[in-house]
Amino acid sequence: MTRRFDAIVIGTGQAGPSMAARLAEAGMTVAVIERGKFGGTCVNTGCIPTKTLVASAHAAHTVRRSMEYGVSIDGTVRVDMKRVKARKDAVSGRSNMGVEKNLREMKNCTIFRGHARFESARTVSVNDDLLEADRSFINVGGRASIPSIPGLDQVPCLTNSSMMDIDVLPQHLIIVGGSYIGLEFAQMYRRFGSEVSIIELAPRLISREDADVSDAIRDVLKGEGIRIELNARCRSAARRGEQVAVQVDGEAGPAEILGSHLLLAVGRVPNTHDLGLEKAGVATDPRGYITVDDELRTTAPGIWALGDCNGRGAFTHTSYNDFEIVSDNLLGGKARRVTDRIQTYALFIDPPLGRCGMTEAEVRTSQRRALAVKYPMSRVGRAIEKGETEGFIKIAVDAESSQILGAAILGTGGDEVIHALLDAMYAKAPYTTIKNAMHIHPTVAEFLPTVLGQLQPLS
Ligand SMILES: Cc1cc2nc3c(=O)[nH]c(=O)nc-3n(C[C@H](O)[C@H](O)[C@H](O)COP(=O)(O)OP(=O)(O)OC[C@H]3O[C@@H](n4cnc5c(N)ncnc54)[C@H](O)[C@@H]3O)c2cc1C
Repeated sequence: MTRRFDAIVIGTGQAGPSMAARLAEAGMTVAVIERGKFGGTCVNTGCIPTKTLVASAHAAHTVRRSMEYGVSIDGTVRVDMKRVKARKDAVSGRSNMGVEKNLREMKNCTIFRGHARFESARTVSVNDDLLEADRSFINVGGRASIPSIPGLDQVPCLTNSSMMDIDVLPQHLIIVGGSYIGLEFAQMYRRFGSEVSIIELAPRLISREDADVSDAIRDVLKGEGIRIELNARCRSAARRGEQVAVQVDGEAGPAEILGSHLLLAVGRVPNTHDLGLEKAGVATDPRGYITVDDELRTTAPGIWALGDCNGRGAFTHTSYNDFEIVSDNLLGGKARRVTDRIQTYALFIDPPLGRCGMTEAEVRTSQRRALAVKYPMSRVGRAIEKGETEGFIKIAVDAESSQILGAAILGTGGDEVIHALLDAMYAKAPYTTIKNAMHIHPTVAEFLPTVLGQLQPLS
């Protein structure tokens, strides 16, 4: 049966539900199609559950360090993984139910459960229904990439999704991939009590960051007893009884790492291969990301792509910002663009890494005249008081405009403090706005004026 709507939204990630609400508020009839769990990656297998687990891991770590703070706890520290998972499920489940409830109660909105596929630029099939609309919004997200390693199909492998079902403590978790997702799981499971090994192909962890950031993070993780193999290629995988064996060509030559569990964290791929995009005239790049312009229009008129599937961001905040751009332009008469936004994200290990704008390496490559400063957290009063002095604050400033070019705060509170610098960047304010500001004592942010007072020409 063909059913006619004003708009179709495919996927309920971080852009789809808000897009549906905005369209419905404007009086349009909207069909929303979801094949999996409402809320997508962030809510069910990404940000929310992992940060909830990180909080449990942090609690375990603090308890182990309790004597450093003069607090004694009798008995051994034991992490109850069933309760850790139950807490995670409750937090994540609340968000999942919230998304579903909002959509189901939304006026002008009809929900379809199932796999959506374009039949033409104006029609989408789901189960036995054919939906027709002049506008479609694709928010199908992505999934974990599975590398082609010989023998991998013969061993049990975990991804960020299946990790969500774990309610036992892995004796030894092997993680292939030393980037953002892999590192968060590595520290979390080490703190839960697992032995953890990271196998990374590149010469350093999170190789998109500056080398000093990668090195400091490596030292933090090694300091907690995590084994890190860099420049290491996984040659093959095999079962050894109940164990998983990974053969690695590493810096010290070939080696075999034996573990109880194997997590693949080598990147993400977009969910675009089975969407019938060719029938709609929607082009993708060679990696499957939907080609979009600066306002997120695809190559097919009347079809937009939002979130991870367009390759213009890989975060909850970029997906939500995609919604704001598309809806403001379409319904608010604005002309917002993806290129107006400033890169920002965090790595939620402990200490967290907050990032905004350019890395120091990017500033150097740009060959502009710049000022820079690097300030150790060991000289930040609040970090000393909390007993969390690892890391540093790094800021780069344009020497001509005095505007902030980029920053990395690897340190306690770094994921929050970074926003002071980010907002100054959005305001296009000179760095002296922060340097001359009065901040609250005692905080990490209170040191930003001091740090900015020590800028030197970037040599
Ligand atoms: C382990 C992990 C941790 C992360 N941590 C962070 C973090 O701390 N901060 C951060 O900003 N980002 C984080 N991310 C990234 C973040 O989760 C995503 O960028 C974010 O969820 C945006 O996703 P999205 O809106 O593109 O779509 P998604 O949330 O992926 O949703 C897509 C939805 O579309 C549905 N769908 C797909 N195909 C179809 C189809 N054909 N028919 C019907 N429905 C379909 C899916 O079922 C899914 O529900 C993390 C990701 C992972 C994996």
